Amino acid sequence: MSEQQHRQKSGFETRAIHAGYEPDPTTGAVIPPIYATSTYKQDGVGGLRGGYEYSRSANPTRTALEGALAALEEGERGFAFASGLAAEDTLIRSVCRPGDHAVIPDDAYGGTFRLFDKVEKVWGLEHSPAAVSDVDAVRAAIRPGQTKLVWVETPTNPLLNIGDIEALAAVAHDAGALLVVDNTFASPYLQQPLTLGADVVLHSTTKYCGGHSDVVGGALVVRDLDLAEQVTFHQNSMGAVPGPFDAFLTHRGLKTLGVRMDRHCDNAERVVEFLTGHPSVHQVIYPGLEEHPGHRVAAKQMKRFGGMVSFRVTGGEAQALAVCERAEVFTLGESLGGVESLIEHPGRMTHASVAGTDLEVPADLIRLSVGIETADDLVADLDRALAGALAGD
Ligand SMILES: *Cc1c(COP(=O)(O)O)cnc(C)c1O
Repeated sequence: MSEQQHRQKSGFETRAIHAGYEPDPTTGAVIPPIYATSTYKQDGVGGLRGGYEYSRSANPTRTALEGALAALEEGERGFAFASGLAAEDTLIRSVCRPGDHAVIPDDAYGGTFRLFDKVEKVWGLEHSPAAVSDVDAVRAAIRPGQTKLVWVETPTNPLLNIGDIEALAAVAHDAGALLVVDNTFASPYLQQPLTLGADVVLHSTTKYCGGHSDVVGGALVVRDLDLAEQVTFHQNSMGAVPGPFDAFLTHRGLKTLGVRMDRHCDNAERVVEFLTGHPSVHQVIYPGLEEHPGHRVAAKQMKRFGGMVSFRVTGGEAQALAVCERAEVFTLGESLGGVESLIEHPGRMTHASVAGTDLEVPADLIRLSVGIETADDLVADLDRALAGALAGD
């Protein structure tokens, strides 16, 4: 099947497994080999085979991954990077010039906020924070003529706020800006922002796309071919590309994204059900709950509600820390989106740097990245951790 047919006709899982690569014509290799080569023999000066010249510009293992990413997000072109932040920096410098402005989430991923606030600002790019769940606030933060990017995460981290992608795309486009959606938390299986009007999708493929906590990477997918040309130029000029082994691992992870996400969602639902009504828990934050303020929008734009769950305990920070430390199947650690369950205390860990600012998170908050282990074991682990923390032992 041609690439075009994959994009138009096949289901998500078929594209995840087949798009971007045809079995190698020489050997029939079903899986893209790890092309550990920096350069390529030319058939006469400038006689490139398949366009391959030098592996910063292109490498066949990376090409396969980039094709798969584009097909899964239903975009025209995909680009792989050495990390999510490398993808962000490359995009920002492809689109923005000194004097320009961007609107960013007021609860942006910490690394994204630091990139805008400590790195890009020095080079003349201004930014304003706005709540992604409030379309009017985003509209008000736009500076007509100056704003080039409206940057959105949905769901956000760690409070799982939801932005209405269709409405935000209209607001961005009215002002002549591009809508960028960081789709890391949802993954392309649960949400395809380009089909809802976004111009660029960004991923930290370190998380659900790779899915096995064994590789750091990033991705961009775009619809517009002129923008694709700008990103191609900057990807090669800035050089923050993944090596072939990283590209291989990420692509291998991507093939099982659909089955993994369904299990992440199943297990998250079980965990939410257990936590809701537990005497030591006073709030469960999950977009799948009807009382979640973003539930209606999430139900409209997401296939399911994902594997991230946050909750607040009645015993304050001391109890939250104790639960994190007592959990055993849930590993205490940062990051998310891998097959293994993780637990963390945002106030002291991922969000420690925003303490004392408007972005400060509650001290009694715990964030879970619910993995794909046996659901009963996950629930039993939380039950033990909460009971022990309550007894104070
Ligand atoms: C992790 C993460 C990033 C940054 O990606 P890296 O691969 O760590 O550079 C960006 N956005 C979100 C939502 C993330 O979770």
